Amino acid sequence: MPRSGIRQIMDAAWQLDGPVIGLHVGEPSFTPPEHVIEAAREAYAAGDTHYVPNAGVGKLREALADKVSSHNKFAVSPEQVVVSAGGIQALHVALSLAVSEGDEVLIPDPGWPNYAMIIGLLRGTPVRYSLRADRGFMPDLDELESLLTERTRMILVNTPSNPLGTVMSGDVVESLVRFADRHDIWLLSDECYDALTFDAEHVSAGRFDEQSRVLSAFSFSKTYAMTGLRVGYLTSPNAVAGVAAKIQEALISCVNAPAQAAALAALHGPQEPVHVMRHAYHSRRDAAAQALDGLGIPYLNPRGAFYLWVDLRDRSGHSIAEWALSLLATQKVAVAPGTAFGPVGEGWARLSLAADMADLLEGIRRIGAMK
Ligand code: PLP
Repeated sequence: MPRSGIRQIMDAAWQLDGPVIGLHVGEPSFTPPEHVIEAAREAYAAGDTHYVPNAGVGKLREALADKVSSHNKFAVSPEQVVVSAGGIQALHVALSLAVSEGDEVLIPDPGWPNYAMIIGLLRGTPVRYSLRADRGFMPDLDELESLLTERTRMILVNTPSNPLGTVMSGDVVESLVRFADRHDIWLLSDECYDALTFDAEHVSAGRFDEQSRVLSAFSFSKTYAMTGLRVGYLTSPNAVAGVAAKIQEALISCVNAPAQAAALAALHGPQEPVHVMRHAYHSRRDAAAQALDGLGIPYLNPRGAFYLWVDLRDRSGHSIAEWALSLLATQKVAVAPGTAFGPVGEGWARLSLAADMADLLEGIRRIGAMK
């Protein structure tokens, strides 16, 4: 299990005396909408505290099938939905379905570090494909072809991207599904930020799935600021949906019942809080971009998720990880070094727009003050 480069910064931040401006974690600065909390409270009060079906409560699975059909624009039945303990556990179920010891999974670089961790737990091998600045941070099909071996089982795709904030166009998403078709591999689509885009349309891989090979992971964590409630969901093709539910029995039995009641309330209740949060991230993005422009620091303007990928190649010397530790020690600002997301992140850092505006702007000011 590789050590997380973000965790290293977190540990160092905890050891410091005095306040630190934390721009390193993806934890929303909001609380869940009140009606969501109320639904969980009511579920506890009503004694809704027993085991529920492995794949999730029927009403929630129905509501999720409707949400995927209307928002993500591909049809799934409630039987194809498995409720999971956050999006991460949906990824774990999907990877458990496909990966045996020695199997290879193509993962993005830079990409969320947890992908490699889960694949490692399954004794598979993560194989990184690059998302480079000089290719517009999009996957390159020739490179993907060159990484295939007879052990390749799956390609993992993440849009909107953590850490890049990129949003793939429909053409790019479709080309990746066709790549999976051509090589008869699974495609796992991590769409945990599907509700968080700014002036860009999120396009789901499931829309292009003609050969039943796309599995899609979603989450309530970011959309409704419900990170601690731990609810996500996986959609999978009919042929393996039952297996996904069985895997849930082996891993967690079922997701906590009051959290599922809260998730149902989140889906059925007013969506205004989602718009308010998205708007706040959008404003923070614009303010942060302006501050970086003022300092002459280049960055990738995010169109989704809530991260800002900042180009420090001219400032960070040979190691962004060391630069981030020194930023923490001298300026008391924690950022995630790009290499925490893969070697392609060398020279870059990820700033979280989930921090509040004042922290974000003060953090950027201090980055500018770094010698
Ligand atoms: N996928 C990506 C890219 C993420 O950044 C995260 C959380 O940070 C997740 C999935 C899973 O989040 P959760 O398990 O809280 O739903």
